[in-house]
Amino acid sequence: MVLAQTQQASRKQNDANVLHCAKHPCSSKKDPEYCHWVKRLHKAVMELKIEDGAQRTFEFRYLDIITDYLQAYHFSLETLALAQIEDVMKFLEQSFSSFSPETNPDTTEPEQNFYELFLTLKEMANRQRNFVNPNLEILAEKLRENVVNGRHDARAIVFVRTRVLAEAVASWLCKCGDVDLMRLNARKFTGSQASEEQGGTSAAEQKWVVENFRSGEVRVLIATSVAEEGIDIPECNLVIRYNYTRNEVSKVQTRGRSRTSGGISILLAMPAVFQLERKNCVRERLMESALHQISEMSSAQFSEKVNAHQRKLFQDWDLEAIINERRRSELENVKFSVLCCGCRKISVHSSEIRTINETHRISISRNLLDHMKFKPVKEQWFDGIAFVGTAHCKGETEPGKYCGYKIGKLLTHKGCPFVTLGCDKLLFLRDNEKRPDPKIKQWKEVGYFIEELTSEQLHEYATEIFRPDCRAAFAN
Ligand SMILES: [Zn+2]
Repeated sequence: MVLAQTQQASRKQNDANVLHCAKHPCSSKKDPEYCHWVKRLHKAVMELKIEDGAQRTFEFRYLDIITDYLQAYHFSLETLALAQIEDVMKFLEQSFSSFSPETNPDTTEPEQNFYELFLTLKEMANRQRNFVNPNLEILAEKLRENVVNGRHDARAIVFVRTRVLAEAVASWLCKCGDVDLMRLNARKFTGSQASEEQGGTSAAEQKWVVENFRSGEVRVLIATSVAEEGIDIPECNLVIRYNYTRNEVSKVQTRGRSRTSGGISILLAMPAVFQLERKNCVRERLMESALHQISEMSSAQFSEKVNAHQRKLFQDWDLEAIINERRRSELENVKFSVLCCGCRKISVHSSEIRTINETHRISISRNLLDHMKFKPVKEQWFDGIAFVGTAHCKGETEPGKYCGYKIGKLLTHKGCPFVTLGCDKLLFLRDNEKRPDPKIKQWKEVGYFIEELTSEQLHEYATEIFRPDCRAAFAN
């Protein structure tokens, strides 16, 4: 049904790319390829031409909602095979919270329809609450055998593919009702790049988890690929890959995490992952034989091979450096606008964007402040800056209806309110182009140097926004 709606909406947009994508979905919804397909569809939607007219704006937003919905749906299907249904529903609830008229009074009709579909699903899921996923039972059995009944200091790392699954498995182990498992005090360990809303773990929390794993307070980590290398995680005696395999290097690295003597590594997997694992085993043997060949070489033969390889590398690097330099000089002069991807009506130009502490991108546009609605949150201090609320777009999508997309946060810096620009719901449009660049997902991908806020600019901004006739804006 969702697909039929996408086709209908894209036909109205008359955009061949979107229509092509919508007509050729990936057949298996559990397949990782499904996620790539949704991403392609989302990209095609983002590339649509920007034109005026309330109806068109509404359709853009509609397509954006559909792709969000499909992505969340795919992740939940994959998680459902390996975790408890209530944890999957918790994830969907978070994903769709902005569709709920209760949390967001500016929801559109399609959003409300999706939310109603979700409520029906929730009711069905509630009836399955007492059923324990058999795959989790197997995982629990392995933890009982090797950690609960193992040495007094036994510890395990369970590798999983997604942040959603890490959260779901850790959550189940802490409330499953089996006191022995609950005492293991399982914690998720995911990347610090993603926000906590998206299932990431902050750097401070990562540090806390590693310290407690070392002391034995936490005895099980449920980790994504971040724990494979680089981070100083203490030794453990059991590594379980829970339907998780990537490549031969990752295979050797994850096994390397069980370094204590007698440590073991187990793969629990469904058929598709097993097949991939078999290929990795063959590659691992090839890698070993290559290492063996190298060890047989004389030192003169070996250094000649290394030198030849390095010469080739240096040539490539020189070329890359030249290309990069050229790109930088081109990009620094490019100006752009940042648009709300929900309504594409509210924008701020790069000349009105600055950084604070070289990390927080803020707008110094009076106009942007006027077009935001703020919702207060519990004050959070970071880097000498207080985060005090979230900023939602007030672009009109149809008469009397507001967009409501969260485009960033409200912070106060030296007593002044600023809107930070979060990348998730923003589009980047270069001054000389007609379509936004859908490839930009993070600020570091914006190839334009953004100036640090100077004290003169801060003074000018403060004077402007604290003019008596402007104060009313913050009352909303
Ligand atoms: Zn908007």
